[in-house]
Amino acid sequence: MKPAENILLVLDLDETLLHSSEKKLALSEDFQYAEYYVYFRPHLQWFLEEMNLHFSLAIWSSADDTYVNDLVAKITPKTVNFEFIWGKSRCTPRRNYEFGNYVFAKHLKKLKKKGFSLEKILIIDDSPEKTKDNYGNAVYITPFEGNREDVTLKKLANYLISIKDAENVRTIEKRGWLHKNTL
Ligand SMILES: [Mg+2]
Repeated sequence: MKPAENILLVLDLDETLLHSSEKKLALSEDFQYAEYYVYFRPHLQWFLEEMNLHFSLAIWSSADDTYVNDLVAKITPKTVNFEFIWGKSRCTPRRNYEFGNYVFAKHLKKLKKKGFSLEKILIIDDSPEKTKDNYGNAVYITPFEGNREDVTLKKLANYLISIKDAENVRTIEKRGWLHKNTL
């Protein structure tokens, strides 16, 4: 049993932990789901197992709820339990006037009702526009689109472990994290 004061990592799915595409890439997929070819970001399962030792974990994607639940079931190592797995129905649509579309934003204040405090939540996402109301909690990650040499999850693990005991993650300057640590 982990102490209750563990930081909660809220992980995005698409382009953060994996890449899924209707277009088959020039490398072998990890699995197929409906019309999608799904490619794990390198070191994905190691990352989840390692983070599970130090943090509480959750998934929050702005993709369709069924897709999210089905894919998460495929990537979750046996030792890992997520606090929650949320999809688009938990996001808040916000009009983007510049592009005339909607952004499905992730508002971390929704987690307060679940007993998580904002000082102890980090959201890992490749889409700043979905988390901009909580940028103080965000660790932005470069999007993964199928590069088999990608070592971002290794570097991210190092970085996150280095701040795992923070009393208030919002006071930490997290921009540029990728360049602060070496592998
Ligand atoms: Mg994403």
